[in-house]
Amino acid sequence: MDESTKPQHDAGYYEVRPSPAKGLGAFAIKEIASGSLILAEAPTIILVQEVLEIRDTDIEAALLTLTEEQCAAFHALSAPPTQYSSLLLRTFLGNSMSPAALPGSTCLCLQIARFNHSCRPNAEMAWNPFTTSFDLYAIRKIKADEEILWNYIPGSNYMPKSYRQFLQYLNWRFICNCETCEGMTEEWRVRQDMYRKDMYLLRNALQGFELSTLGRDSIVARGISIEHTWKPSELEAILTNLWQPPRELPDHLQNMDAKRQINAWNTLTQIMEPSYMLGKELALTSFYLVDIAVKQPECIDSDFDVRLVDECMAHAMRNIRASRPRMGPDVQAFEAKREEWEVAKQEIQSRLNSRATQRTSTDQGPTLRVTKPSKVA
Ligand SMILES: [Zn+2]
Repeated sequence: MDESTKPQHDAGYYEVRPSPAKGLGAFAIKEIASGSLILAEAPTIILVQEVLEIRDTDIEAALLTLTEEQCAAFHALSAPPTQYSSLLLRTFLGNSMSPAALPGSTCLCLQIARFNHSCRPNAEMAWNPFTTSFDLYAIRKIKADEEILWNYIPGSNYMPKSYRQFLQYLNWRFICNCETCEGMTEEWRVRQDMYRKDMYLLRNALQGFELSTLGRDSIVARGISIEHTWKPSELEAILTNLWQPPRELPDHLQNMDAKRQINAWNTLTQIMEPSYMLGKELALTSFYLVDIAVKQPECIDSDFDVRLVDECMAHAMRNIRASRPRMGPDVQAFEAKREEWEVAKQEIQSRLNSRATQRTSTDQGPTLRVTKPSKVA
């Protein structure tokens, strides 16, 4: 196993204590740097069953395999008053995860169950196929005493508050009170919804580039069995081959020139970051912008454009590193893209320099317009 894919987490990052209106929560006991692995936990219980097929007897059988201490920890978990008939089912399903990476499986991790939700999270959860554990990463700097939160419904990034809250209530019987949902002023919240709608529209407009083609999800999407017990070397071989460059643009966007595509991707990153949509998705969004610049360098025609692509490349690297090891070998693909960009940049700069020396007037030519929404407080 590559050293970079081995989780190294510091058990001393957090403690579980009461969280206002949420029962218990996990709080940082010291500052946690972005990209830190906060916790790596193998599931205590895995039921290879669809959620609707799980019965009390399945959970009882699983509990029999646990230690007394683990059983006590299970029974101490919250049991949200969902539609499920028994306390056992409500406890298990209210705290378990059904990751896309493990289709047909429902997993319960006793420690991860203590981490609460936010639509504006500071941590990202990832299934790590190398260690068969769930890894929780800091996707930005987390201050001491700050609650560590992850987004239970990653797809909800692009949903307005009303829909996010509908899903939260349906699944866990809570109404999120994160900053995006309830914080700041009404005007601020309306703007948050507007940003998410814009992001949704932009992402769809640009969907020729898949945002989720990497990592473990790709293994499943390609029909590769995850029931088989893979040797680490086999997994590495699969993951190494997972990276696929973005597909061709869909027909309706074929006529969108490279500069407009870059502008659209840039707009998306500019909205995502203040909305705290960090980690993997932001890394990919920044990456796609650089990819267009590398493939169509003629669209980069000012120093300003060069700096924009540079910034996006740095952005992609920062965020992809914060998503390891789910991204594992994909980090290498980002490194490779950075090298491609450095080569393209040299050609672009020599073109810009020779144009500048030839020019006698002060005409600077067209410049990429950068859409920057006003920063979210
Ligand atoms: Zn929220």
